[in-house]
Amino acid sequence: MIIAVDGPTASGKGTIARALAAHFGLPHLDTGLLYRAVGRQCALNGGNPDDPADARAACTFPDSLLDDPELRSEATGGLASRVSIHSDVRKALYERQRSFATQPGGAILDGRDIGTVIAPEADAKLFVTASVEARAERRHSEMLEQDRAVSIEDITADLAARDKRDRTRKDSPLVVAEDALVIETSGLRREEAIAAAIAAVDALLAEHR
Ligand code: C5P
Repeated sequence: MIIAVDGPTASGKGTIARALAAHFGLPHLDTGLLYRAVGRQCALNGGNPDDPADARAACTFPDSLLDDPELRSEATGGLASRVSIHSDVRKALYERQRSFATQPGGAILDGRDIGTVIAPEADAKLFVTASVEARAERRHSEMLEQDRAVSIEDITADLAARDKRDRTRKDSPLVVAEDALVIETSGLRREEAIAAAIAAVDALLAEHR
C-alpha cells in the first residue's frame, strides 16, 4: 500500500505523514529533506541554486548530510525551493523516491508531487493545506521554540514566495491530484488533523477495495 501526502510548506503534512506511518505501520520518507540536502550541498559547494548545472552537481550529496540539523532551517528551505525547479534535479532524485515508494509492503511519502509524479498509482492520496496565516503562525511558534528570532512578516513573505515557486514551476508543480482528498488544517489542533487524515485514508482505501 502506498500513501501519498502532498501540500505546501508548514501545512502540517509532515506531522500527518509521520502519524499515518505509525498508525498503518509503514516506512516514511520526507522527500523535502532530499531537496533540502541538494540546496545545502549547493551552498557548501559555493554554487548558485538558480543555476541548473550547479544545482545538478549538488545532487551527489553524501547520505550523512541528511542528518545535518541545518537542513531544517528556513534558509535551507528557501535554497531547496530554488534548486527544486530544475528538471535535472527532479530527475536525479526520482529513482530514490520511486524505489522507496514501491518497496515490498508499501510506504508513505510526503512532498509536493508524490501523488502526481512519484507514485501516481498510490492507494490513498491526501493534499494537506492551511491558510498562509495559519501556516505562518505555526512556523513562527516553531522558530520561537528553537530560539530563532524571525518576524511573522518575514515568515509570511517567505512562505508566499516559496508557494509561488512551487505552484508555478514547469516541472512537477504543486497541484492537487485529481483523486486526492483535501485536508484543510487551519482550524484544527494537531490531534484533530491526524484523526481527519486517518479517517480520509480509511475512506479512500475502502473505495479502492
Ligand atoms: O517540504 P519541505 O518544506 O521540506 O520542502 C522544501 C522544498 O523542497 C519545497 O519548498 C519544494 O520546493 C521542494 N520539494 C519539491 N518536491 C518535493 C518535496 C519538496 O519540490 N517532493
